[in-house]
Amino acid sequence: MPEGDLLHRFLFENLAIRGHLVRLDASWRATIEHHDYPRPVSDLLGEALAACVLMAGSLKFSGRLSLQIEGPGPVRLLLAQCTHRHGIRGVARHGEVPADGSTVASLFGGGQLAVTIEQDGRAEHYQGLVSLEQAQLAACLEQYFGRSEQLPSRLLLAARPDRTAGILLQRVAAAGAESESPHAAEADDAWRRIGLLAATLSSAELLELPCRDILRRLFSGDDIRLFAGTPVHFRCACSRERVSGILRSLGEGELQALLRERGDVEVCCEFCNRAWHFDAVDVAGLFSAVGRQPAPRGLH
Ligand SMILES: [Zn+2]
Repeated sequence: MPEGDLLHRFLFENLAIRGHLVRLDASWRATIEHHDYPRPVSDLLGEALAACVLMAGSLKFSGRLSLQIEGPGPVRLLLAQCTHRHGIRGVARHGEVPADGSTVASLFGGGQLAVTIEQDGRAEHYQGLVSLEQAQLAACLEQYFGRSEQLPSRLLLAARPDRTAGILLQRVAAAGAESESPHAAEADDAWRRIGLLAATLSSAELLELPCRDILRRLFSGDDIRLFAGTPVHFRCACSRERVSGILRSLGEGELQALLRERGDVEVCCEFCNRAWHFDAVDVAGLFSAVGRQPAPRGLH
């Protein structure tokens, strides 16, 4: 697939609208290869990852963008992450899930979607929240853009076990377009028109058509500049240091009990399935003055 695992940026030459298009193949399959997700869960995770890459396409600094959904329903947690270098990973935790016909709201039993942006080297991070009121993840995220970022956006997402794809259109503020000017009314009309055209794209087209053909099929009457794609790859951020921090937070007593029971402590990364081993000496080192460092935040 020549177009797989690429994030494309594009812009309308004559309108204050920009966009991103992404299709994930190998990187998506690597994300789920160690998991046996039921189809509704893998589709949702695929859509979330595509959305995450599209959103990370606008990151202006070194860091990471995460989409996290939590709720009391059959799917308890979904986490998708993309770095500024377009390294992706994601995971979902779930119980018994209905085979089909589920909405995002019903899969999570309501719940909330959080968008978190972390900048490398900074302790504080940005977080925006939106409650899951829509049937589809894309619509929930459109709501997020409208409310949290005041950035009118149209988002289409599609996923299947071997591929996931998405297109994001965003209206950018045009210079000199105050709300009362005739230009503003024109820009409103153009944005509505582009949104209606985008809505005609089917999931099959989004997953199958080459990037240029998607734009031509949707916006044949508009001049569009399509930029070369940036590679997206699966990359887990787990490390021995991060796992050490999590083990330290369990406490020495708990770890000594595990050592007595099993001989060593094994931690398996939820994202990449990599196993990290700690024997009695390693565990002692975790709690020595030299090895003690503050535990990192979040999942390893
Ligand atoms: Zn990992």
